Amino acid sequence: MQQDNKSTCRRVAVIGAGISGLAAAFHIHELSPETSIKIFDPRPRAGGVLNTVIKDGLEIEEGADNFITTVPWGLDLCKRVGISDQLITTSSQYRQTFVVFRNRLHKLPEGFLMMAPTKMWPLATTGLLSPLGKIRAGLELFIPRKKDDADESMAEFGRRRLGKEVYERLIEPLVSGVYGANLEELSVLATMERFREMEKEHRSLILAMRAEMAKRRKAERDAKTAAKLGTESGPRYSMFVTLKGGFSLLINTIVDKLPQGTFHLNCRVTSLNQDQSASDRPVWRVTWQDGQDKPESERQTWTELFDGVIIAAPSYNTKELLAPLNARLGELLGGIGHTGTAIASMAFKNEQIHHPMDGMGAVVPAIEHSPILAMSFSTHKYPHRSPEGTQLIRVFAGGARDPSLAVMPDEQLTPLLVEKMRPLLKIEGQPFAVHTAHWPNTMPQYYVGHLDRVAEIEQIVNAMPGLALAGNSYRGVGVPACIHSGEQAAELIRN
Ligand SMILES: Cc1cc2nc3c(=O)[nH]c(=O)nc-3n(C[C@H](O)[C@H](O)[C@H](O)COP(=O)(O)OP(=O)(O)OC[C@H]3O[C@@H](n4cnc5c(N)ncnc54)[C@H](O)[C@@H]3O)c2cc1C
Repeated sequence: MQQDNKSTCRRVAVIGAGISGLAAAFHIHELSPETSIKIFDPRPRAGGVLNTVIKDGLEIEEGADNFITTVPWGLDLCKRVGISDQLITTSSQYRQTFVVFRNRLHKLPEGFLMMAPTKMWPLATTGLLSPLGKIRAGLELFIPRKKDDADESMAEFGRRRLGKEVYERLIEPLVSGVYGANLEELSVLATMERFREMEKEHRSLILAMRAEMAKRRKAERDAKTAAKLGTESGPRYSMFVTLKGGFSLLINTIVDKLPQGTFHLNCRVTSLNQDQSASDRPVWRVTWQDGQDKPESERQTWTELFDGVIIAAPSYNTKELLAPLNARLGELLGGIGHTGTAIASMAFKNEQIHHPMDGMGAVVPAIEHSPILAMSFSTHKYPHRSPEGTQLIRVFAGGARDPSLAVMPDEQLTPLLVEKMRPLLKIEGQPFAVHTAHWPNTMPQYYVGHLDRVAEIEQIVNAMPGLALAGNSYRGVGVPACIHSGEQAAELIRN
């Protein structure tokens, strides 16, 4: 979060050991190795929603499975901790995404990027849209700009520009596959501002996308020329990358680089207070309870003073800590909703699947009323993830469409999902391995007006010296954005 308070921080508490908290702690350590850092988390391990499980010869990501490279923060952190040689680009063999329509997989029209087409012919010939839907999409070229800068929902924006069919059958599944959100509530400015900027500049998204593609082609030509001349500036990655060894490699590397005694796992911070008495400038009194893995009677409560505190926990946990200090701040934090998801990673032998699966995955529109939000063909994206002759598929269930699926017991969820996948991928029999991760309340929902809410939160936090917030609740949910939020928080409370 953006703030401008700076203070001398010799002792810093980081609340939350997800990637945002870890990035914050690592950056403090880089900036001033003499600073004493304590990181708290009620979970028994660092990483928050990032965790890699190796079993049955499979490399399974329980949460995120890759990160975007169009922003620098993810790649940059991998470089600084010394693991960039472990980065893996997505396999170039399968570039296709599928969309489920009437219980069958259809190819996403080539060149359709999240909200808009870059090519008209694939849109004109797709079986996903009716003739009227296609004509309405083409009219996007003539639809005037929005007259004001007010926020609107992704659903309003998508329908306004490209019509109801393109919205329901393409935009809605693609965006909810990422945010797990109800697009009627999701803010376009907080999640896809780039498309509103395109509208502002070019009027039509189709025209804007064409201009952007022309720029990209030129950049690719320039890069090829640089490669031929040997003047390249560094390795080139695909739009998404992952790590050999998974996200746990990043987490464990950061953990190992921080001094011993930094981590206080199984410890929940229960309150925060500003303490004026201990010095001439306010310090923070942090109270935590250890033994979150033990019965209540065996837990102990501890208190310590810190010069700086970074809260890198979800906004609803942050609210519990800050509402007693500022009621309005509590109200604002409490207004950021969260939804959850379950990811069932299922492995099949190749011969069990009779669909060519010639793509990276599939998204499912809400109008299909399926428990599946999306499927990611993990082995096709990153072949090292499952043994030769097998396919690892990550199946997402839940999101705002049905948050109860995020916590449905595995013995109910697995058969429900397998039976829904069976006609889509023409699957025979049962998966030979299933590993399900349940993530209730982990996906923040940036409702319409989110940016104004965050600006007010920042304004209030700015007036509390030595305090900074980080994490996915505010200005971006992707791993690189979370890393950036942690690093910004570290800089804001540094010496
Ligand atoms: C299923 C799923 C799939 C995803 N896929 C991708 C993807 O492929 N690519 C991508 O870029 N992003 C993806 N994301 C998003 C990204 O992974 C997350 O936004 C990011 O990892 C969140 O990191 P964080 O540190 O902000 O939060 P978290 O990982 O949630 O960590 C916050 C930590 O705060 C702790 N905490 C809470 N209360 C307290 C307290 N009182 N005291 C101490 N600690 C506390 C929690 O225990 C938790 O460990 C995905 C997210 C999910 C849920």
